[in-house]
Amino acid sequence: MTTRVQSTVLRICREHKNDRTRLVDIARAVQAEFGCVGEEATDLIAGAVGIPRVEVESLVSFYSFLSTEPEGGIVIRLCDDVVDRMVGYDRVLEAFEEELGIGLGETTPDGKFTLKRTACIGMCDQAPAALINDVVVRKLRPGFAREIVAELREHGDPGELATDFGDGNNAHKLVRSVVHNNVRQPGPVIFSPINRSEAIRKALAMSPAEVIRAVKTARLRGRGGAGFPCGMKWEFTRASGDDDKVVICNADEGEPGTFKDRVILTELPDRVFAGMTIAGYAIGAREGILYLRAEYAYLRRFLEAVIERRREDGLLGASILGKVGVDFDIRIQMGAGAYVCGEETALISSCEGLRGDPKNRPPFPAQRGYLGRPTSVNNVETLCCVTKVMEEGPASYCEHGTPASSGTKLLSISGDCHRPGVYEVEFGIPLRDVLELCGAEDAVAVQVGGPSGQMVAPDEFDRRICFDDLATGGAMIVFGPERDLLEVVHQYLDFFEDESCGYCTPCRVGTVLLRRCVGKILEGRGEPSDLDQLERIAGTMKSTSRCGLGQTAGNPVLSTLERFRGIYESRVKADPEGLRRAFDLSAAVKTAEGIAGRESVHAEH
Ligand code: SF4
Repeated sequence: MTTRVQSTVLRICREHKNDRTRLVDIARAVQAEFGCVGEEATDLIAGAVGIPRVEVESLVSFYSFLSTEPEGGIVIRLCDDVVDRMVGYDRVLEAFEEELGIGLGETTPDGKFTLKRTACIGMCDQAPAALINDVVVRKLRPGFAREIVAELREHGDPGELATDFGDGNNAHKLVRSVVHNNVRQPGPVIFSPINRSEAIRKALAMSPAEVIRAVKTARLRGRGGAGFPCGMKWEFTRASGDDDKVVICNADEGEPGTFKDRVILTELPDRVFAGMTIAGYAIGAREGILYLRAEYAYLRRFLEAVIERRREDGLLGASILGKVGVDFDIRIQMGAGAYVCGEETALISSCEGLRGDPKNRPPFPAQRGYLGRPTSVNNVETLCCVTKVMEEGPASYCEHGTPASSGTKLLSISGDCHRPGVYEVEFGIPLRDVLELCGAEDAVAVQVGGPSGQMVAPDEFDRRICFDDLATGGAMIVFGPERDLLEVVHQYLDFFEDESCGYCTPCRVGTVLLRRCVGKILEGRGEPSDLDQLERIAGTMKSTSRCGLGQTAGNPVLSTLERFRGIYESRVKADPEGLRRAFDLSAAVKTAEGIAGRESVHAEH
């Protein structure tokens, strides 16, 4: 056993108090040090935290930012999201491959570079984009990709790639990123000016029950998409007997096409942390966790500094604003690359140092969440709204939006439009107006709510953005007339297949079956009966999958079959002889031929 691996891994474990619940942090630190969590490291970690090695292996294999095999010192993760593909992903990939002399998933022989694909990194407004270690590069072009490789060969430091910083806090000395905020329309709630302490001061002047009542009076609903009433969630959590409660802020926006939380965390972290503190006071929690997705690791040092400053100012820690008995602090928990962790119980698993597997419900997190403690998981945007409700009162808050959907909504808009970016709109705004705002003149379809949402057709553009019509977590991707929507559906299914945690059969198998069936239709081998088959599989997944991922993974198929049936029907046809054209005998026996080492003989029709 090499001394360096041993001493380093054991030091990392010690720094995390050999705590099993910090396994994600330990694995991330080991990965950063050695480019993988290899055999030796796995044994050492297992021994130090007192768990079987298979649990460490299982965790490492779950997260896409961890690896059991050695990766290069520089890992280029090229985002292969639908929007990135629309604006040149293939050509950029080709340039990286040529320049590095390796394909996707490979490492250069000198061990310096690894090239990988990755799901949405929250940069659809400035695609194609990639992460180079933790550094974001945006608006990539083939020539730019070649320059990046040449530069990295010269100095080997991804941090030096960023010289022309983005706007606002992207240029902060603790961020130093080329990312641009692209805030196209700031609104009166989220983007209103904030006094760092006012909302907390007002909350502390009330009782916790009064704070919850104010949030209920404001009719504040969760902004993650499902729209569960925030006040009710807090009430349930507060009412759970245990007084060791927890607030978790879900900053794991992984829905392809979403990037609004990135902007909030960059420009308005005080609004988020104030919301978490108020939530803690309301439900009776002393501990808060900000779960930050691995893709936003470049914001971590900045966010840590904001938290520290709030401690110094008496806005976090013991006796907040001098009120004895009101204690609340926040730590940041990094994710490690898993879309399913956006689901609240999977996110809790990840915070506990486990694979991000969703948990069975009941018990609900409000009853038994993080480490068995009553937990309120709230979205970044929801917590911003909480701060606003406290600042101005529920009546003023309710002046925005509609009776059933009070307030405003942040939209992340990308795709075929002239002005991609973040828009704060009043709930109730017609989709048509949103398209006008972002300059999407010839939209033929809009994916509202990301792949798990719905593909909306032009005859529905008068529908309104709100909980009782077009509900959305915020992602909005515009497709122009030259886009092949069936290709888009196929890419979304590929994404869900990749991201399924594999726990339950309908989702694990269903995502593969759907992707294969749509692929077959794209290749011109589809039959009319395939459309029924697609509907059946997606329907079964919806009603029998364990968590939201599997329940919504069939939505790209269901919503396009309902509204764009022509894209399927124009490509399927029945064989006049009644044969199953879809069955390709040569392809079916290929694997067997490889194993047997000889070609089979069969008659073709
Ligand atoms: Fe995992 Fe999919 Fe089942 Fe959710 S639905 S638990 S992601 S396999």
